Amino acid sequence: MNYDENNIFAKILKGEIPCKKIYEDDFVLSFHDIYPAKKIHALIIPKGKYIDLDDFSINASSEEMVGLFKGINIVAKKLGISTEVGRGYRALTNISNDGGQEVPHLHFHLFGGEKVGKMVE
Ligand code: AMP
Repeated sequence: MNYDENNIFAKILKGEIPCKKIYEDDFVLSFHDIYPAKKIHALIIPKGKYIDLDDFSINASSEEMVGLFKGINIVAKKLGISTEVGRGYRALTNISNDGGQEVPHLHFHLFGGEKVGKMVE
């Protein structure tokens, strides 16, 4: 499967579609999910063109990998849900059809601001 240049997150990255931005640096963009499933529901995406976590794990540079994982913590801190402030959250990524992925640009969901339960429906 090739990367779809016109997926919705690619359009957000290109500035063609607006988003409620939380954080941005050289490696990641984070914004609020348009249909929040929990009190806090953020998304964080790498700036590189990666379809999913498998694609990212195989093809991303070490710098991009560090950037994404550091980015998750930075966003959690900004949202006040990180363990540094005694809270917690769920970071989740869906992978391809069987994983329930709808948008084919790698993204982590960050759910928090309340008990998220054992699983997210
Ligand atoms: P997934 O099913 O893991 O691919 O998740 C895709 C997520 O993207 C869903 O939670 C959607 O609500 C969210 N989403 C879709 N379009 C937008 C958008 N324009 N801005 C923010 N979030 C979006």
